Amino acid sequence: MPSKLNIYNSLSRKKEEFQPLNPPFVGMYVCGPTVYSDAHLGNLRTFTSFDIVYRYLKYLGYKVRYVRNITDVGHLVDDADEGEDKIGKQAKLEKVEPMEIVQRYTNGFHDMMSQFNCLNPDIEPTATGHIVEQIETIQKIIDNGWAYEVNGSIYFDVKKYSEKHHYGKLSGRNIDEILEGTRTLDGQDEKKNSVDFALWKKASPEHLMRWDSPWGVGFPGWHLECSVMSTKYLGETFDIHGGGLDLKFPHHECEIAQSVGADGNEPVKYWMHTNMLTVNGTKMSKSLGNSFLPHELVNGDHPLLEKGYSPMTVRFFMLQSHYASTLDFTNEALSAAEKGYKRLMKAFKEVQSLEFGVGEVSNEINDLIIKLCKKCTEDLNDDFNTALVLANLFELSNKVNAFANNQLPISSVSRETFDLLQKTFKDFIEDILGLKADEDKGGDGKLDATLSLLIELRKKAREEKDFATSDQIRDQLATAGILLKDSKEGTTWEIK
Ligand code: AMP
Ligand code: ZN
Repeated sequence: MPSKLNIYNSLSRKKEEFQPLNPPFVGMYVCGPTVYSDAHLGNLRTFTSFDIVYRYLKYLGYKVRYVRNITDVGHLVDDADEGEDKIGKQAKLEKVEPMEIVQRYTNGFHDMMSQFNCLNPDIEPTATGHIVEQIETIQKIIDNGWAYEVNGSIYFDVKKYSEKHHYGKLSGRNIDEILEGTRTLDGQDEKKNSVDFALWKKASPEHLMRWDSPWGVGFPGWHLECSVMSTKYLGETFDIHGGGLDLKFPHHECEIAQSVGADGNEPVKYWMHTNMLTVNGTKMSKSLGNSFLPHELVNGDHPLLEKGYSPMTVRFFMLQSHYASTLDFTNEALSAAEKGYKRLMKAFKEVQSLEFGVGEVSNEINDLIIKLCKKCTEDLNDDFNTALVLANLFELSNKVNAFANNQLPISSVSRETFDLLQKTFKDFIEDILGLKADEDKGGDGKLDATLSLLIELRKKAREEKDFATSDQIRDQLATAGILLKDSKEGTTWEIK
């Protein structure tokens, strides 16, 4: 493969050169949403980060199989082993079938993913579609001596496992620390140790989602589905496993134990974790009541928002930080992102319409443009640093503006450099970062084209000192709900 890509591996806690197990094939698994409510923008951040990983690996020429699951059973409230199933609870509340809840929020999740231009995974398996495989894996773990049965439930014996293996290797803890940190058994608990986790739970009579198993009627534990579906579609050991940082422990730690317990193999070569989207400093989460839904963001219909923002502005906002840093969601940050995004897209449009002309090449400008274009690749190769890629594209945008405004002759660069500049904008903005022009409400770019013409006519009128016409254009558009904004970079428009 052409480039040397480095990925920060949460397991080794360092950047490692990416070497797929079976090039050019790459297997990538990302923990998907639990579909009992609308996905929020925190979830979107994680999925957007992996969208970049997927897009870039494909761009580099790898044949990627991207698997992202849908959790539709087994995820209990409080992420623990006791309590109601999140989906079952919502179904009872609304007096509908659990599968109606699953379908509604899966549809909503897909709509959100396409609105924010995230590519579909190659396989999107569901936990309920893999009950047979989950039962088989539990049986293997029991046969290998790592799990035990109590009253129709099966638990993974973490204490026994940790005598031979390092449970806690991913989150950097040892078993004694974990034991101290977990709740002590209260006499009611049927587990041998509080660190043990459920592979299968006996269903109480009121539990809606239930299946037959060799241990009676029940349902699978939450951690199991990901071990089973990732290895089913990607092999017992595969390249990349991702998810949000909050899944590192216990979810991913349990996945490692389950795979080692069932197959004797470490399941994953590179573990990747995205950091959290915060709102004024606090993690965005549904239970904290500070989560934003996509439509609230687009309409500005949320107490914490001053106005609405387009999906592409939000995508741009997310890409402005490295996936491993926290990202804080504020009005100021979004409004700065809106300006930045428009500036970048304007330069993208300009660079596409520039025509090359031969003349005297300026080595200084030529070399600078080559350097910045190369840096885009280097920065993505350095653990997918989209923040630095955008910074390079902005520096390049300054030069593009100068070409477009005739402040700098286009002949300052060679033909090759000019082609490289156009290609870099196209490849990085569209293919890798997945940014596209905001959809306008007139459809098919017709409104955009009409307004560009009106802006041009107004500019001409002003140059000719025909202020009556220029004001008429501005005022009549304002009456129709379209605001023209003048700045040093030119005139932009926005729907009020
Ligand atoms: P869930 O549907 O809650 O299981 O979460 C789906 C994915 O979104 C998981 O990978 C979570 O780690 C991730 N996630 C949840 N909240 C946030 C947040 N505030 N910021 C970034 N990722 C999040
Ligand atoms: Zn998972």
